[in-house]
Order: sequence, then C-alpha cells, then structure tokens
Amino acid sequence: MTKECEDIVEQEFEDIEIEKEQEIEVGTEEDNNLVRWRRGQPEKWKRNVSVKKRKLSKKPLAIDCSKCKFKCSITFNEDYRVQLCREYWSLDYAQQKNFILSRVSQYSVKRHVPITGSRIAKQTFKNYEFLNDNTPIRVCKPFFLKTLSISHGPVDKALKVIMKKPEFIFTQTIEERRNQ
Ligand SMILES: [Zn+2]
Repeated sequence: MTKECEDIVEQEFEDIEIEKEQEIEVGTEEDNNLVRWRRGQPEKWKRNVSVKKRKLSKKPLAIDCSKCKFKCSITFNEDYRVQLCREYWSLDYAQQKNFILSRVSQYSVKRHVPITGSRIAKQTFKNYEFLNDNTPIRVCKPFFLKTLSISHGPVDKALKVIMKKPEFIFTQTIEERRNQ
C-alpha cells in the first residue's frame, strides 16, 4: 500500500472512531475491541455480545417506493429487503465496503453555468443498485440506505477512498489494520 493510500485509510479509521464515540451501539465487534484498546473502558466490554446480536438483528427501515421514479418497492419486496439487510450486516468491515462499492457507482458531469458564462460546474451523481436475479436494477438513494439500514456515511467513505485510488480494494479488518 502506498503512503497516500495509507493516509486515506488512516483518515477513514479516525472518522470511524469519532463515530463510535458517539454511537457505540452500531459498532462491530472489531470496533469495540478498538475502543477498548484505545480507551480502556471496562464497562463497555460486556457490550460486545449484545452489539453483535443487535448487528445481526438489523432490519430494513420502512419506505414506500411504489411511486418513486424507480418503483423500488415493486421490484424488491419486503422479504428481499430483509434478506439484503441481513446479508449486509453479516459481512465484516471490508466486505461491507466492497459490497457498497459493487452496488454504488459515482460519476461527475461538467456543465456550463449559464448565468456566470464560462464557469464550469462539476456535478456528481451516484447510481444505487441492488441485484434482482443477478441483474443490477437501479434504486433510489433512500431505498438503498433504508434497506441496508445505514446512513450515507459508509457510502461516502467507501467512495472517497476509491475515487482517490481506483485500484484500491478494502481487504483489512480494523483489527488487522491496528496490529500492523
Ligand atoms: Zn425508490
């Protein structure tokens, strides 16, 4: 891994730690080990088991997409949403990031701004997809996030790393990273 790449990842883990401080209950087991190692707060050790349980019992958040542009709810029924959510939360940190990267693509379009004349504005768009019989089907952002029961944070972080270093693949767990 190059220095630049390491910096990006380091920054990312710093972000995660800040999140963990605020929101321990969404942490993975590895994250909590990290918190324990860094802070030595024995009162939090017992939480590991329940955190893992809670993680595996994550459920998709309700959304009605029968009338949205992509008609997400019609293509993906509630059972399938539950399955997707469970699948996502059974993955480890690196796998989750790779899952996101395999389903979200980002592209930017340069366009002229009429009012300012020559100024060119760059707009970034994201495509969100789920697989339906191995065929990627586009869904809207709220449907994607609510189905996986995540905020836009993990998506942004995964894309931030990959935009700077397109060939980068998430391979390490947080523990592996810390043990280096
Ligand atoms: Zn939708």
